Amino acid sequence: MVCITREECIALDKKDVLASLRDQFDLPPNQIYLDGNSLGVLPKSTRTRLIHVLQEEWGRDLIRSWNTAGWMDMPNRVGDKIARLVGAAPGELIVADSTSVNLYKILSVALKLVLADTPERRTIISDKTMFPSDIYMMESLAKEYQLKLLLVDTANIVDALDDTTALVLLTPVSYLTGEMVDMNEITSAVHSVGGLMLWDLAHSAGAHEVDLNGCNADFAVGCGYKYLNGGPGAPSFVWAHPRHVNRVAQPLTGWLGHAAPFAFDRSYTPAPGIQRYIAGSPPILSMVGLECGVDTMLAAEPFGGMKAIRAKSIELTELFINCVKQFCSEVMEIVSPLDVNKRGSQVCLRFVQAEGNDTYGIVQALIARGIVGDFRAPDILRFGFTPLYTRFVDVFNSVQAIVDVLNTKEYKQQLYQVRAKVT
Ligand SMILES: *Cc1c(COP(=O)(O)O)cnc(C)c1O
Repeated sequence: MVCITREECIALDKKDVLASLRDQFDLPPNQIYLDGNSLGVLPKSTRTRLIHVLQEEWGRDLIRSWNTAGWMDMPNRVGDKIARLVGAAPGELIVADSTSVNLYKILSVALKLVLADTPERRTIISDKTMFPSDIYMMESLAKEYQLKLLLVDTANIVDALDDTTALVLLTPVSYLTGEMVDMNEITSAVHSVGGLMLWDLAHSAGAHEVDLNGCNADFAVGCGYKYLNGGPGAPSFVWAHPRHVNRVAQPLTGWLGHAAPFAFDRSYTPAPGIQRYIAGSPPILSMVGLECGVDTMLAAEPFGGMKAIRAKSIELTELFINCVKQFCSEVMEIVSPLDVNKRGSQVCLRFVQAEGNDTYGIVQALIARGIVGDFRAPDILRFGFTPLYTRFVDVFNSVQAIVDVLNTKEYKQQLYQVRAKVT
């Protein structure tokens, strides 16, 4: 195998077409942040914009700012920007609530649509390793509509489809393993049996190319605080294909999803289009953070946009995997797929000699050294690679740190074994 050196990685950074975009971020010194798939870093513009919004828009202009500062249009404006990253048209996607809440809305709407047309469809299908919120929401709705929830291995999704399939909810990239599936292939397979396809883009928006219209998906949601750098708890986004959007109201019929909120009607008439997916007032401070975060992604457009981001993401994860193979392959198993077309922007490892809390301890010992990844129960070390601010040399240095932590066994120290609330 070719031997990778730090110098080669520095050379790769010099050639990187996206390198200048790193300067958009307020990166803490002496840290290699490999957790942008959980919480993206702070863009410099967010700090400036938020101070402006606090001082001028909220502080001085107060309620007028809903009109004069464009607050009321933020869910649409930011939605249109995100649409550019995921293959949706302007006006088709909106920012609202959390991913969990949006999952409830689209699952509920999709089930109403399918069951109205084909009441004999009784199965919801998803992946066994789906994110818990997604599973819990599917469970609640399955209970409400007395449907069956079938959770299968990623490889068996297409085989599980039949004419009883009502809908399928999947993530193009597994949060747990980084495994990536082909959105076109699965969407067509689901449509060929007459079901609806819902995509949760939490680990996709801003991480790889997504073409919601191109793959003819039915509904989608996504997360604002991961690759989109929107800040902790940033609002989520929701998309419904234009062929569905006006057919039924979503279940959380709040006043701002009404066709005429300021008419204060006694009865609910859903707004036309995606606007109906809003329930209540948009969280403006969080929206500002999200807009600045999304702008850091759009700044890549002159350099090739999502295509260039995906190309660098592949190079970063390949480099990480090759370094792991070179420096610690005897003890670190690579859990994520080795085929680049089946892998998202993260790499998961498993420590084969793990006893007790060792895996958690390794992650904590790395964090103490400034290498921030995360632990996912039961035994996964997860490293996310965000092409806008991760350098090739960071990848090399992080693997050196992993090797050091393993060699010194510092992960056995008591202080690294105590589980925090957020892992
Ligand atoms: C991160 C993530 C969520 C998070 O949901 P929130 O309600 O925004 O906390 C949901 N689904 C998936 C697949 C995720 O990766």
